[in-house]
Amino acid sequence: MALMRILQAQTGFVLTKTKQLQTQYFEEFPEIQVCKGKKNYPCILPNQGHKTVDEALCQAGWPCNRKSYCPYFVDLKKARAASEVVFNYAMWLSSSQYAGMFTACDVLIADEGHELEKEVVKFSSIILRQPHFSKWGIDVPSFLEVEDYAEWAKQMRPRISNGKDALEKQLLELPEVITFEQERMLDSLRELSTLQRALSQVIAAPDAGRWYIRSWKNGSVEMVPVWASRHVRKIFDAAGTKAIVMSATLLPTEQTAKRMGLDSGYEFIEVDSNFDPGRSPILFQPVARLSRKNLEQKLPDLVTALDEILYDHLPDERGLVHTSNYYIRDYVLANSRFAKEMISHEGSNREVIIRDFLDGKGPPVLVSPSIGTGFDGKGDKARFQVILKYPFPDLGDPLVRMRMEEDKESYDYDANAAFIQTCGRIMRSYDDRGMTYVLDGQLSRMFSSRPNHFPKWVKERLV
Ligand code: SF4
Repeated sequence: MALMRILQAQTGFVLTKTKQLQTQYFEEFPEIQVCKGKKNYPCILPNQGHKTVDEALCQAGWPCNRKSYCPYFVDLKKARAASEVVFNYAMWLSSSQYAGMFTACDVLIADEGHELEKEVVKFSSIILRQPHFSKWGIDVPSFLEVEDYAEWAKQMRPRISNGKDALEKQLLELPEVITFEQERMLDSLRELSTLQRALSQVIAAPDAGRWYIRSWKNGSVEMVPVWASRHVRKIFDAAGTKAIVMSATLLPTEQTAKRMGLDSGYEFIEVDSNFDPGRSPILFQPVARLSRKNLEQKLPDLVTALDEILYDHLPDERGLVHTSNYYIRDYVLANSRFAKEMISHEGSNREVIIRDFLDGKGPPVLVSPSIGTGFDGKGDKARFQVILKYPFPDLGDPLVRMRMEEDKESYDYDANAAFIQTCGRIMRSYDDRGMTYVLDGQLSRMFSSRPNHFPKWVKERLV
């Protein structure tokens, strides 16, 4: 917000990742208007159960006479009139791209900017859900090329549009009291709008770069943009005159700009961290430069080194062990002499185990392949962490391979971004403290081959 004042911006939008961060902004700057998505508001029509606004009848075009005092629409109106608004990424992307609201402003600030690319990829991905198309007698085909899908979508769109027109005609004169039959028709209308939008996205897809196409077991098809650059660029162009992407973990390299579709007209500004490097050292204690070839052989040495670290910290402190994958996780749990002090999770119970760990319940060491981002180990929740294996992306993922074939640096970039994120899990404020151990020698290779990927604060903390 201070940036907006400095830049003398009349209108400014701030984008954050979560609703909690939106609330934090509001608590610090009460003059800012918070704009949350439809899922956060209940529909206040009687007899609508627990429907939220995104499921409400008005979303299918029903002319609700409560709109003028419906909480979602009241807040939306306030946000549209406000000069400073804070959104979460999902809300802003859908309201600016689909609904045409909130397009231009003087300054767009993307907070937690390392999430921007991921959020845009998620938003721009298209899912053709077979069960939804089946209801209208349409089979989602299985093609390899996005152009074939675009042709198919051109043929299918009139069928969906005609179905929608016919329903709209039937619903033209709806009474205030809605019958069950009318409600069912309105739900169908909303579904048809969703399918129509998906088909329009597919028709436009060939002009938006390369896509990775994945078929699901139930016949649905997912299309993911290989790069977000064109999509992000479109958003910047629509947003206004200045965009500021902020993050403690953004890589200060041209690759970052390239991924946002910027080849000129940008500047990196690296601000000194107010965290004392002495309170959060990164101790590089390589056991080996791990690779697929030597991993099996080096695992015993890795666990020996891990046990020595745990011996120093237990039982007084709680900490994390990052394994990068479940294979290493299983080996650690089976072979560490501190296995009884460890807890881990599967995909299905991940949230519960993490919540319990953060609440100080259970064993003091959390072993996981997936807590390198979004984990808040502040204070005593986690005083140390051990990175066993450098967090390279999974080469078994076809999308990772497609990106690597096109841009070799991207593989290292994603690994280094994940590493930098992981380093930030246990040092959460200037008065926090925590030790990070790195046992994989790949870090030194990265430091020498990609020095410009590492922000200053990481370099200062490395011991
Ligand atoms: S405008 Fe009416 S139908 Fe829509 S969410 Fe509000 S109360 Fe429900």
